[in-house]
Amino acid sequence: ADFDVVEMLADLREILQQTNPSHRLILNLPPDGLLINGDSQRIEQVVINLVTNAVKYSPKANEVIITAGVQGDKFRVSVQDFGIGIQPDQLERVFSRFYRVENLASHMSGLGIGLYICNEIVLRHNGRLWVESEYGKGSIFYFEIPVNMAE
Ligand code: ATP
Ligand code: MG
Repeated sequence: ADFDVVEMLADLREILQQTNPSHRLILNLPPDGLLINGDSQRIEQVVINLVTNAVKYSPKANEVIITAGVQGDKFRVSVQDFGIGIQPDQLERVFSRFYRVENLASHMSGLGIGLYICNEIVLRHNGRLWVESEYGKGSIFYFEIPVNMAE
């Protein structure tokens, strides 16, 4: 179904800010509403998982930046943190089911399922999910989905 993804992200930020008081969630949105074709609850789950990770894996930072916009016929969201980062050889594996990176954060609780679910949801919207990271500096997770799935 069609839903306004700009409105959804603005509302979601309010909730996520309340549940993640340790970090300031900065949201960069396009000025106008944007209707996209997809499952709003699933897309919301992707953003929740990415922001939850960004907060969890940046224990010494105090900001997470969420940016949304349109690139051609795609809607793109990025979630940036200034945390522990991911080593280059682990970058692809974080999307695997039950995979967790062995590092200083290994003691943090989690199943290693969050990113796998994000990837499945994005793929079902004919989109893609990827990450850029600098170990020890931080990470940016991106996802992109067609504005209109029917096209
Ligand atoms: P959960 O199932 O509760 O989400 P999880 O957070 O460990 O557990 P994923 O969200 O799938 O699982 O993430 C997989 C692994 O990728 C994490 O264990 C962590 O090692 C790494 N990771 C994910 N997001 C980040 C991030 N923003 N910065 C650094 N490492 C990350
Ligand atoms: Mg997670």
